[in-house]
Amino acid sequence: MNNISCELITAYIGLGSNLENPIAQINSARLAITQIEGVKELAFSSLYQSLPMGPQDQPDYVNAVMAISTSLEPLVLLRSLQSVENAQGRVRIGERWGARTLDLDILLYGNVVLDLPDLKVPHVGLAERSFVLYPLQEIAPDLLIPSKANLAELVAQCPLDGLRRLN
Ligand code: ATP
Ligand code: MG
Ligand code: MG
Repeated sequence: MNNISCELITAYIGLGSNLENPIAQINSARLAITQIEGVKELAFSSLYQSLPMGPQDQPDYVNAVMAISTSLEPLVLLRSLQSVENAQGRVRIGERWGARTLDLDILLYGNVVLDLPDLKVPHVGLAERSFVLYPLQEIAPDLLIPSKANLAELVAQCPLDGLRRLN
């Protein structure tokens, strides 16, 4: 059996970067994601600037959210996204939430709820992160978040925390 199933799922990917020209990192990640076999872009949010989580001695982030249609199984999608991170110089050492050239997180994979060692969807930080919720609302305002709430309610409860739309 190969890794590609036939069912098409709408998934949402959170993109973030705060090193080595973050806007260019996000734009090339978008292109690389559209080139993954079994992935098609459905929508892409504006770019946003956000304050770092965790260690504060690092540059601000650029964030965006992308909607895709995919035939890839969740773990195959995760590995493909990690390959894009690696290709763009992501280094996995150092502190949690430290500076990085590229972070690609699976925010949602259809209505699927997964709690695997390597993959939790909906993404664990989704409900509290302004840099995820606001761009997500821009491209999917009516979204229902499995096992959480509807997106509009989460946005209403989430302060901007310094988030700024860039374009
Ligand atoms: P956070 O997940 O809080 O945003 P992070 O993105 O900086 O932190 P990473 O270093 O990119 O964390 O990833 C750590 C691990 O998280 C990965 O090895 C991956 O297996 C796991 N992981 C669990 N759920 C997800 C998800 N929904 N999307 C991406 N990675 C995930
Ligand atoms: Mg992350
Ligand atoms: Mg990550």
